[in-house]
Amino acid sequence: MLSVIISGSDFFMIIGGFQKLTLIDYPGKLATTVFTSGCSFRCPFCHNPELVVETQNFASVRNSTEKEFFEFLKKRKDKLQGVCITGGEPTIQLDMINFIKKIKKLGFLVKLDTNGSRPDVLKKIIDLKLVDYIAMDIKNQPKNYAKTVGIVETQNFASLLDRVKLSVDLIMYSKIPYEFRTTVVPGIHTAKDFLEIAKWIKGARVYWLQKYEETKILDPKLKNKTKNKKIDLEKIKEKIEKNFGKMGIR
Ligand code: SF4
Repeated sequence: MLSVIISGSDFFMIIGGFQKLTLIDYPGKLATTVFTSGCSFRCPFCHNPELVVETQNFASVRNSTEKEFFEFLKKRKDKLQGVCITGGEPTIQLDMINFIKKIKKLGFLVKLDTNGSRPDVLKKIIDLKLVDYIAMDIKNQPKNYAKTVGIVETQNFASLLDRVKLSVDLIMYSKIPYEFRTTVVPGIHTAKDFLEIAKWIKGARVYWLQKYEETKILDPKLKNKTKNKKIDLEKIKEKIEKNFGKMGIR
């Protein structure tokens, strides 16, 4: 069920919920994961459709939920090391900066997951040294980005793609530990796309290929496209891994 967290300013965070303990979301750390609601993309293969479209009337639950979340964090100060902020797309939240500051004040490491659509927010977060790890999705090679993220290609899309590219550059030059990752969807991606992705993000510290699992997805019609399609992740990895510090499949 969706709920809302207010972080103490005029703006507030729209939060879909939080998972109290994760052993896998933050590399090498015990963490909790908080899910923001709302997204700038509409990837048909999205596994969190309930977070992509905001549907809740938020007013009634604001303060109690904020209290609950931060009380939970305070109680886990000695047991958990980090907080993963994921979505949806966290950087579209109006109170993102204050929200992270409050988490940092409690002494937690912060990992941010992003689709890279808001380099302006990302730059502020990096400049203020508010995050300790960034994970950014590379949805596809630039030429195929629009169809992959479910957005109609217009002149505006070109500027969105420019923003994604800017985010890649900001992250690669930030000195903050990071990873790029692509969920590989048969029927959407081809092996050739990864040659282009490798050219684009060549020299990246870490790049993950993520296996697509057809469970709950944003656009059920995608199943017609993926039906009987296969893509060999090992072969892709063999071809492009020399471009990265570390590359893996998960
Ligand atoms: S998979 Fe796409 S639509 Fe879903 S949260 Fe991530 S960027 Fe948004």
